[in-house]
Amino acid sequence: MSYPKLSFEESLLEKVVLKEKCMGCSACVLVCPFVCLEYHEEKPKLVKKCEVCGICPRVCPRFKWPLSDLEKLVFGRERTANEDFGVYQHLVLAQTIDKDVMSSCQDGGVVTALVTFALKNGTIDGALLSDLRTDKPFFPTPVLATTPEEVLKCAGTRYTYSPNLLAVQEAFKQKTQSLAFVGTPCQIQAIRKMEAAKLKRFTNKIKFTIGLMCTESFTYEGLMEKHIQQTLGVNLHDIKRMNIKGKVIVTTNSGDVKTISLAEAKRYTRKSCLPCTDFSAELADISVGGLGLRGWTLTIIRTETGRELFEAAVKAGLIKTRPADEEKRALSLLVKLSKKKRKTAGSS
Ligand SMILES: Cc1cc2nc3c(=O)[nH]c(=O)nc-3n(C[C@H](O)[C@H](O)[C@H](O)COP(=O)(O)OP(=O)(O)OC[C@H]3O[C@@H](n4cnc5c(N)ncnc54)[C@H](O)[C@@H]3O)c2cc1C
Ligand code: SF4
Ligand code: SF4
Ligand code: SF4
Repeated sequence: MSYPKLSFEESLLEKVVLKEKCMGCSACVLVCPFVCLEYHEEKPKLVKKCEVCGICPRVCPRFKWPLSDLEKLVFGRERTANEDFGVYQHLVLAQTIDKDVMSSCQDGGVVTALVTFALKNGTIDGALLSDLRTDKPFFPTPVLATTPEEVLKCAGTRYTYSPNLLAVQEAFKQKTQSLAFVGTPCQIQAIRKMEAAKLKRFTNKIKFTIGLMCTESFTYEGLMEKHIQQTLGVNLHDIKRMNIKGKVIVTTNSGDVKTISLAEAKRYTRKSCLPCTDFSAELADISVGGLGLRGWTLTIIRTETGRELFEAAVKAGLIKTRPADEEKRALSLLVKLSKKKRKTAGSS
């Protein structure tokens, strides 16, 4: 795909940010060679004169979206008409065998298990993940994790946005060489666009990507502050975990459980999630989701890189598996949510 050299103002500012389509992945901020952009309130902000190098529009998932080119880049082919959730090799239900991981993870702990395995065997020396901020309760923040303890601390899901790519800046500072990336489908898209743009300074470091299936993310002000804190009366410092299984389930440190219907929660969906077409992280090496399951991660192995990593972790006895077709409801939900997201996005 050919790109004319466009400025930030005439490309991303006009066509993405001002149209409220910017989901804040941070890829543009990261790649600007003149450091013209800063990440501010979940968006890029121009802080000095744009040099019109045309690089930032090339990595934005919301600006020209050549899906077929990217599928050819990642898989060597486009998806066929019946590959509803993208190209893949293998689908499986998986669960960590580690009790510590199981007690803090979201579903089957596959993400934490795989990243920890790769750290311990030297495939990577760091991982770009999402931790919690210390100064704001249950507020996610990108982090570079370099030890199994730091990876374990990140386990679990926060349903507000965490621009995990920003942690690459810390990886450069710490001179980390080989990284895992974990993030939402939109962030995986940005990484693949960086690969297509041959921005090797960034992409050569990333050894594998794990994409988290994602229907939407919510605003912190709406879901956390307005609804959970004010309406439900839950102190945000007391939240132990949040999950979505047909409804939003909030569990506190003292074991209290509060729920929010999905219809209610959707009032707080970030506007920039509405044009999103990708439920299952269709360009990741491995995609993972809970899909209504309890204690298991539905795992989609898409690329050779993903297959090698996953099989090695299973062989090492760190992950146990079951055939995916034992959970037919989860499989049909995967297809249904993938189709629905493409259809809804098309009409937004
Ligand atoms: C915003 C969001 C929406 C999701 N929506 C769905 C959904 O609709 N359906 C579904 O089946 N699955 C959804 N998931 C995925 C699901 O919640 C689990 O992350 C997935 O099943 C993996 O579980 P696990 O036990 O293997 O992961 P764990 O071992 O618990 O690891 C989870 C990893 O997620 C990362 N993480 C946590 N919060 C965020 C965040 N906000 N942004 C980026 N990274 C984060 C952490 O760094 C951690 O390494 C969503 C995840 C997110 C972040
Ligand atoms: S990457 Fe290039 S086009 Fe984008 S803001 Fe920086 S100088 Fe401008
Ligand atoms: S979607 Fe990402 S790359 Fe595009 S403008 Fe927003 S932060 Fe930048
Ligand atoms: S719905 Fe799409 S844009 Fe929103 S966080 Fe999920 S992957 Fe990103």
